[in-house]
Amino acid sequence: MSHVVKMMSVDTIKKMELSLKSSLTPTAPAGSVFSAKIPGCTITAYKSGKVLFQGKNAEAEAVKWDGTASPAAKKSSAPKKPHRFAPPSNIADLAIIGSDEVGTGDYFGPITVAAAFVHPDQFALLKEIGVKDSKNLNDKQIIAIAKDLIHSIPYSLLILHNDKYNQMQSKGMTQGKMKAILHNRALQNVLNKLEGGAYDGILIDQFCEPDIYFSHIRNERDQLRDKIYFSTKGESVHLAVAAASILARYSFLKEMDKLGASINTVLPKGAGALVDVKAAELLQKHGSAVLNNLAKTHFANTKKAQALLQKKKG
Ligand code: MN
Repeated sequence: MSHVVKMMSVDTIKKMELSLKSSLTPTAPAGSVFSAKIPGCTITAYKSGKVLFQGKNAEAEAVKWDGTASPAAKKSSAPKKPHRFAPPSNIADLAIIGSDEVGTGDYFGPITVAAAFVHPDQFALLKEIGVKDSKNLNDKQIIAIAKDLIHSIPYSLLILHNDKYNQMQSKGMTQGKMKAILHNRALQNVLNKLEGGAYDGILIDQFCEPDIYFSHIRNERDQLRDKIYFSTKGESVHLAVAAASILARYSFLKEMDKLGASINTVLPKGAGALVDVKAAELLQKHGSAVLNNLAKTHFANTKKAQALLQKKKG
């Protein structure tokens, strides 16, 4: 069975969900926004922006939704040439610093980025702790594993709070650039903790083309460019990315709890209809300034919440 993974914008994923409304499956995997079954293809969109197309029509469906470029899609029907930052085939056996982020597709809550170093000597320990692809773990498991992890491996955890996010976004910085800068910094922090200790490479769970990544970090003081690899589904490529992913999700969960508690509510994840309703409720209760510290205000949810509130006021 063929499968294709694409990175899609929040807007595209929303459009897809709407257009696939009649084909949505009642249950969707953890961490996903939706899952839909159409003839010859199962489509699952994740909060991370990854969209997985599976089945014999995977390629065609992916091309249909991938608004970025049809030339690229045409190319992909030819044998795929791995980009020059593809990890070596033995990567799973190497000592790697991995990084991943969470919260980019969620209206409420920050973006959290984690980097973690995992040496082959620790593979057994990490598997014992329960580290694996976080998409197969529920929140309770994530929290339990993360609490063990933070005592076991060198890591760095960065949180981009909403007010700062909104400020940078309003100045024109893309989410992609914010992510790139955070990944680079988290990775550098871990590298500093290794104090010259040997590592074989860096693996970033790929969220954009490597060349774009490097252009995003070009003004950073420290720029990691050596022994750096990019891979989609990095969690299943190396335990270091799986660990980073768990730490990032743990941090996101904690921040969501804190943010919710600060206004006596529970904030929903994702960017769906429940989020619009909650945002409208908060606008009504606390006024328009409240969202700046809680949400990524440029998401379409803000306008939808305002419209809901208008309607309510009638
Ligand atoms: Mn990721």
